[in-house]
Amino acid sequence: TQRFIWPMAQFGQIINMYQRARASSARIFGLMDEPNRVGEEPDAPDLAVTEGRVEYDDVSFGYDADERILEDIDFTVDGGETLALVGPTGAGKSTVLKLLLRMYDVDEGEIRVDGQSVQDVTLRSLRESLGYVSQDTFLFYGSVEENIKYGTFDADREDVIEAAKMAEAHEFIQNLPDGYDTEVGERGVKLSGGQRQRVSIARAILKDPDILVLDEATSDVDTETEMLIQRSIDDLAEDRTTFAIAHRLSTIKDADQVLVLEGGEIVERGTHEELLANGGLYSHLWGVQAGEIDELPEEFIERAQR
Ligand code: ADP
Repeated sequence: TQRFIWPMAQFGQIINMYQRARASSARIFGLMDEPNRVGEEPDAPDLAVTEGRVEYDDVSFGYDADERILEDIDFTVDGGETLALVGPTGAGKSTVLKLLLRMYDVDEGEIRVDGQSVQDVTLRSLRESLGYVSQDTFLFYGSVEENIKYGTFDADREDVIEAAKMAEAHEFIQNLPDGYDTEVGERGVKLSGGQRQRVSIARAILKDPDILVLDEATSDVDTETEMLIQRSIDDLAEDRTTFAIAHRLSTIKDADQVLVLEGGEIVERGTHEELLANGGLYSHLWGVQAGEIDELPEEFIERAQR
């Protein structure tokens, strides 16, 4: 079985050993930060997704004016393809995705979906086209059913149950005190990370988005459940443009394109095989993680410390 998980947490840790001194006050502020005000023109058209092709055209961005977080991010994901983002913690992977969701606006460059700038279309239509799956998925105070239905107003209980079954969530939901009516979120029953992830998968299955945004985590669930969850995620990603912050080897191997981010820049790109062959950061971190080499070569340590 494909139990091997590419531990990007560890990928990050290997780097972090060398940069521990750079404690980031930005991260602390980040938690309290409100997204920039993103707006839309009164007559903005809705996004019309045709193929699901996403282009980042020389995108630069900083949360603060004086600190660039992303620099000249430039890539294209064709409709139906999967892009895997890898790199150490703090490299900017989540930020890349937040810009697509338009939680913030780019400082320079442009992000386009099927040729339409995300800044020119209505926010509602943009966010309707995107499905987000993660263990950090926001659950509002309301029933599990309402949380799964979130954004898909015409779904009924039957649809919700079907989606929950496909997401391997039905069983645990049935075992909650009030089943699908159990209140969750802030003041409700606390769900584990793995359970939240499954609720978010069920939500995405119902939503059937054009573009899937996947923040993978090394799950806190047993192996069998994880395999089942993974299968439903793979089904969801199939034939759909997918962005994945990838931790699993199989996601990375199957991705049409892997971007290695480091310090807010794309330092390597290609398929998994191409990256292994080109002898860069990726192949070295891979070597350390696989136990093939003992330590990161000096040049990479220096890069990590910059
Ligand atoms: P990754 O997903 O690769 O771990 P992030 O995109 O989360 O990286 O973070 C990239 C950088 O942006 C980090 O230095 C982080 O501290 C900073 N950052 C993230 N979110 C915020 C925020 N809301 N406000 C300010 N800085 C932030």
